Amino acid sequence: MAVVTETEITSLARKYETASPKEILAAAVQQIPNIALACSFGAEDMVLLDLLMQVSPSTKVFYLDTDVLFEETYSLVEAAKAKYGIENLIRVRPAATLEQQAQEHGEALWSSQPDLCCNIRKVQPLTQMLSTLDGWITGIRRDQTSARANAQAFEHDAKFGIVKVNPLILWTQEDVWQYIRDYEVPYNPLHDQGYPSIGCVHCTRPVKPGEDPRSGRWAGFQKTECGLHK
Ligand code: SF4
Repeated sequence: MAVVTETEITSLARKYETASPKEILAAAVQQIPNIALACSFGAEDMVLLDLLMQVSPSTKVFYLDTDVLFEETYSLVEAAKAKYGIENLIRVRPAATLEQQAQEHGEALWSSQPDLCCNIRKVQPLTQMLSTLDGWITGIRRDQTSARANAQAFEHDAKFGIVKVNPLILWTQEDVWQYIRDYEVPYNPLHDQGYPSIGCVHCTRPVKPGEDPRSGRWAGFQKTECGLHK
């Protein structure tokens, strides 16, 4: 049985509709002890990591290591470990190595079938990880995409059957960066080189000023999401 019913999730969403991210995180770890922060080490997730380590340093933090992240991202993981300790950091890996994937589906699957590649390297490992949890915390903001415009602080995640907590729904990109500057939160240096959204090496390019921040992901494909969020 779920630790929090759908009725309780609706009531938490209402209660924390205008709460601060820190208040939402504190309520989340209290209401849903078996919860984890899904940390991509992007700007939003670095803010959440900084706040979570203040509120509940023993809470699980996991990241999806697709084996093809940027060197700068791997360095940021190490910098975050050094700064925060992160007692409970979990590196989630795909079942198939890059070599196994190439043998089965051909070289550079990201160039031919990015949906399949994301499924193998992100969605399946995430699904497995979430099956061990009662809730997950994400860095979704309402103003990122139209699909995220109605996100709530607490939601029932129908796709994965657990609670989804989105503490940054009311924040803008500027709020995120103001926090990073104010509290000297470590961040990926690629953000200063025109990469607002950072994924895998093969599927992320810098964007020009004025372009949609997510247009640098899977450029050339009709694809804007990994399939991790509904
Ligand atoms: S972002 Fe690209 S390389 Fe990474 S899992 Fe998806 S398709 Fe594969």
